[in-house]
Amino acid sequence: MSTLVTEAIVLHAFDYLETSRIIRVMTRDSGIQSVLARGARRSRRRFGSAVDLFAQGTAEIEVRPNRDLQSLTSLDVTRARAPLAADVGRFTAASMIAEMALRSAGDEPAPGLFDAVELALDRIASSPPDESVDAALAGAWHMIATLGFAPALDVCANCHADLDPVAAVQFSHSAGGALCARCGPQAPGCRVIPAPARNAMREWTAGGRAPALSTADARAHQRLLREFFLEHVGGDRELRAYRVWEHGEWSAA
Ligand SMILES: [Zn+2]
Repeated sequence: MSTLVTEAIVLHAFDYLETSRIIRVMTRDSGIQSVLARGARRSRRRFGSAVDLFAQGTAEIEVRPNRDLQSLTSLDVTRARAPLAADVGRFTAASMIAEMALRSAGDEPAPGLFDAVELALDRIASSPPDESVDAALAGAWHMIATLGFAPALDVCANCHADLDPVAAVQFSHSAGGALCARCGPQAPGCRVIPAPARNAMREWTAGGRAPALSTADARAHQRLLREFFLEHVGGDRELRAYRVWEHGEWSAA
């Protein structure tokens, strides 16, 4: 048994037996880890808000090799991110980011992805409620770029010809990005991306921000992001948190 001390973010949490909680954390040094927080339900004293979703701090984890579930000794919270729980739009956006992170990473070190997830959650937490979708789109594309899957936006994904920066272009998920006028018609299932959408994606993949989106544009971006993520990272399983975020199911009541 060894002790791992590392920065960690709580991405998933559920109750276990009468007294404990199992949480899945993204760590800076050991990727995703599932840990048991013994007694977390019986007493708030031991873990406090540390086992709440999206909390971040220094975790001490007892690691036994070849086990799927490790033991959490402590988690010293430096960022509780309470604003994420205070607004349902922010909460569903953060849940989507957590789902993408859990789907993207294993237990190997991924410090770049850790930083991208941290930045995404911080930005969603500090966004005005009506801009939480923008913040989440920015965070998600930055994570995808960090994973090495940034879409081609300035040159054709197929033949690498320069693209007109102010033109609408065809975008192919399977080709990995925007296509020139010659390659576009030959690729099946393309979507047309107007120049402002391409500009926004350029900013987001670089970790920046873009002008606020209209509701219709935000919906188109949500769809595009979902399709791209599933094509390149996420596999075949349904993204449940993503669906709730994308369809705004919380607001149907
Ligand atoms: Zn081309």
